[in-house]
Amino acid sequence: MKICSHCVLNERFPGIKFNRDGICNYCSSAKKKKQPRMGWNKYQEKFMQLISQYKAKGCYDCLVAYSGGKDSTYTLHLLKDKYDLNLLTFSFDNGFQSDGARRNIRNALNNFKVDHWTITPNFEVMKKIFLDAVDTGVHMNKALTRASSICSICITLIRFVGFRLAVDLEIPLVAFGMSPGQASLATGLVKTNARLIRTMQESVFLPLWNRLGDCAKSFFLEERHFRKTEKFPYSVNPLVFTEYKEEKILKIARQYGWEKPDDTDANSTNCLLNSFANQVHIERFGFNPYAYEIAELVRLGCMTREEGLRRLNTDLPQEQIDSAKRKLGLETS
Ligand SMILES: [Zn+2]
Repeated sequence: MKICSHCVLNERFPGIKFNRDGICNYCSSAKKKKQPRMGWNKYQEKFMQLISQYKAKGCYDCLVAYSGGKDSTYTLHLLKDKYDLNLLTFSFDNGFQSDGARRNIRNALNNFKVDHWTITPNFEVMKKIFLDAVDTGVHMNKALTRASSICSICITLIRFVGFRLAVDLEIPLVAFGMSPGQASLATGLVKTNARLIRTMQESVFLPLWNRLGDCAKSFFLEERHFRKTEKFPYSVNPLVFTEYKEEKILKIARQYGWEKPDDTDANSTNCLLNSFANQVHIERFGFNPYAYEIAELVRLGCMTREEGLRRLNTDLPQEQIDSAKRKLGLETS
């Protein structure tokens, strides 16, 4: 299989072309764009301005989606220690939260000394949503170039739960721990509004509602939320405007009692459904759903190409895949 000589994308990646040197068009066009991470300062300054404007005006300054993974632990460190914000964190137990992640969440929360809510949806509902994602993620679209269909819907639910909580509790900032490979610099700081969130929500919720009915309703915003037009938060992804070096991230996370879980695969530090989600995606489309993120991290110099290839080529743990399939009521191989 042909792989770009600069990043990690292979010939099955949608729309890929290689030049004479074996470099892919994604790398070539990334090179043509001006330095992608030049705007950091601007984002940090803007974020500082928002902090001075909103800090200590309500019960909490910022709501943080905290998965117990290394990236969100580092995000928590930035928001608490560097930006000195009063945080409410929440985690979303999709039914596949690893024991290691649970332990990491407990340790980190004790050390960070922040308030935390755990959202644990009825597993029967999550099961329906995940099985639906397996069935409907058959046709390639832009979202599926960046994540598996299972991962995408789960992240989408977490985002909407976050917006819903932020509007309900009138928290002015809501933060996510997306890496610079998962999210562009432009997503670093976005002022949301009722119209934007409603449009985003309709594109996900209505198709889901058509297929599954009311069961997924509680994750999304209601009319009463959309009426609170002045309470829509800023969405923040601090990692995209901060130096992202895995070694440093792991070092800081460990200072807060975080340990690399031994029960998850090479690309997740919190979710036991990830391997199955990856397997479905790879079998269907011929490339790893983490390839885009890892290729971007390699281009940005946040990860070596060798490490990227190692991540993508590590065998998926069969035992974990079978256990996830059993839990979803699917036949195992
Ligand atoms: Zn490339």
